[in-house]
Amino acid sequence: MTATLIDGRALAATVKETLAVRIGELLAEKCSVRLDVVLADHNPAGSVYARNQAKMCEELGIEYRVHPVACDADDHTVLGVVSMLNSDPDVTAIMVHLPLPAGVDTHRVQAAIAVEKDVEGVNPANIGGVLYGRRALAPCTALATMRMIESTGIELAGAEVVCVGASTIVGRPVAALLMEAKATVVSTNIHTVNLAEHTRRGDVVITAAGVPGLLTGDMIKPRSIVIDVGINRITDADTGKKRTVGDVDVESVLPVASHLSPVPGGVGPMTVAMLLRNTVATADAG
Ligand code: NAD
Repeated sequence: MTATLIDGRALAATVKETLAVRIGELLAEKCSVRLDVVLADHNPAGSVYARNQAKMCEELGIEYRVHPVACDADDHTVLGVVSMLNSDPDVTAIMVHLPLPAGVDTHRVQAAIAVEKDVEGVNPANIGGVLYGRRALAPCTALATMRMIESTGIELAGAEVVCVGASTIVGRPVAALLMEAKATVVSTNIHTVNLAEHTRRGDVVITAAGVPGLLTGDMIKPRSIVIDVGINRITDADTGKKRTVGDVDVESVLPVASHLSPVPGGVGPMTVAMLLRNTVATADAG
């Protein structure tokens, strides 16, 4: 028996098809559907992400605008750009690419994004809404993780779910959304003593630690659902080439789990789909 792979690309494509219909309607009504991003110069990861976003937005008919800030910009400058975007009625969706220039207070900038335009769900007001079970403008990776779990058809009420990693952008909001779904949630972190004792009880195990090979087959319950959120760049021992892996030791987990959300091709594409979903939602509300 081998686990069924949860196809994040296919699920994301379905979400995008639905969005394309709504975008068409909004554009026909002469509503603006656009995504404005703030991007610091010399941010290679952010630039690659921004290029991919631009391509995807173009495919869907979403206008995409980049607002560059110098790599030595200070709080005042970055907050000024955010403030300008907040007050522009044509701007409906704002995202700030990280990392920001050294010395800029990221949390202060995120808190300054207008709550109703915050498509990544990084403003404390939107993160706070997650505690009330609100999914509108919840952090995109948390939304994507929930969609991946729900695609398996599992009844979450009463299920034991173990979250490995408790960051404010992934582990904690996912835990809150799972609690809203009436799951029994265990949140673990780097200080957790004997991680495997917890993960072995999980009907669902979510890994978002950023540690390649952290979750092995002997650490999970047979027929459990495993959602790998980690994105790690490693050098392949055989080819010497760089490749992307998650936190799961796929070889040992596949024969034990019932479902596995893989890396790449799992939560990643779904996270992008959730960003687009939030972008359309803010245009809809505007
Ligand atoms: P983070 O560094 O902010 O948090 C990591 C969390 O994992 C912390 O709570 C830490 O205590 C915990 N942790 C670390 N090592 C652990 C261990 N050995 N055992 C148990 N817990 C451990 O990271 P983050 O921003 O939440 O990202 C986590 C991973 O998810 C990264 O690989 C990141 O690239 C990936 N990520 C993926 C997406 C996506 O769209 N797929 C989005 C965001 C983050």
